[in-house]
Amino acid sequence: MTATILDGKTVSAALQDDIASRVASFQQETGKTPCLAAVLVGEDPASQVYVRNKERACQKVGMTSQLFRKPAEITQAELLELVAQLNQDDTVSGILVQLPLPKHLDASEVLDAIDPRKDVDCFHPSNVGLLSQGRPNFLPCTPHGVVQILKHFDLPTAGKNVVILGRSDIVGKPLALMLMQRSSETCGADYANATVTVAHSRTPNLKELTQQADILVAAIGVPKFVTADMVKPGAIVVDVGINRTDDGLCGDVDYDALLEVAGAVTPVPGGVGRLTVTMLLENTLKAAQIQAS
Ligand code: NDP
Repeated sequence: MTATILDGKTVSAALQDDIASRVASFQQETGKTPCLAAVLVGEDPASQVYVRNKERACQKVGMTSQLFRKPAEITQAELLELVAQLNQDDTVSGILVQLPLPKHLDASEVLDAIDPRKDVDCFHPSNVGLLSQGRPNFLPCTPHGVVQILKHFDLPTAGKNVVILGRSDIVGKPLALMLMQRSSETCGADYANATVTVAHSRTPNLKELTQQADILVAAIGVPKFVTADMVKPGAIVVDVGINRTDDGLCGDVDYDALLEVAGAVTPVPGGVGRLTVTMLLENTLKAAQIQAS
């Protein structure tokens, strides 16, 4: 068996075309252009790449972006003041504070200070609360990207056993919330209604769980952790992991080995990562629409 490769580039390109045409309509209707404000603190190389990719993606769909580069020594008060200014700025639709922040800063306090209507990462407690109740303002970018990949390749989740490795607030937990709902806001009931198991570092018998998965999502940050013997033949495997190793970028699954066992698998790079940026654009447009209404 050779698994179908779930190519994120194709999905992302199709979604970006659609976003670009909706940005153009929004501009015609309101005379305004959606704008993403990105706050980058310090010199973390990976964060610099992520922010640059996000700025380029904004340009591609006709949005504007503003980058606020701040030195690693910025104080908590100064950062909160910047967020307050961006909250007030009518030309800014969405605010993104690139994580991780330097250790002396309290990331939760900074993220909580973002106006929920501009919270395009969907980290604010009120947006997370609305998501958990199944009436989201915004969908979190990476989990939403996972759902969009499944939808594009016609791989519904309803009635399926989904096992998610990882329980972070950014990926595992919100993805579980989305897939266990009665309906996905953007993809309908077929892309919700899953029976979801969330595993983490304290889960015993991991292999027994993963072997039961119709859809296995790996989001743990351990290179090639998921091996072929952990996967049910024919299962769909979504690899969220992005790990930098001496051999280059790799995911949380042993991709080459899984090609022989899985029914479908996302590559790294070129898989979920592409979609994360695209869903950020979707949220920036939505934020602009919310503020214009
Ligand atoms: P976190 O470090 O915040 O969370 C990792 C989770 O994995 C934790 O719940 C942890 O368990 C669990 N875990 C770690 N080791 C094991 C193990 N050996 N067995 C079982 N569970 C384990 O990571 P993130 O969720 O932020 O990111 C996960 C991966 O996804 C990373 O590689 C990251 O780079 C990537 N990522 C990719 C994105 C994309 O766009 N494609 C976006 C965001 C992240 P515990 O809670 O018990 O510690």
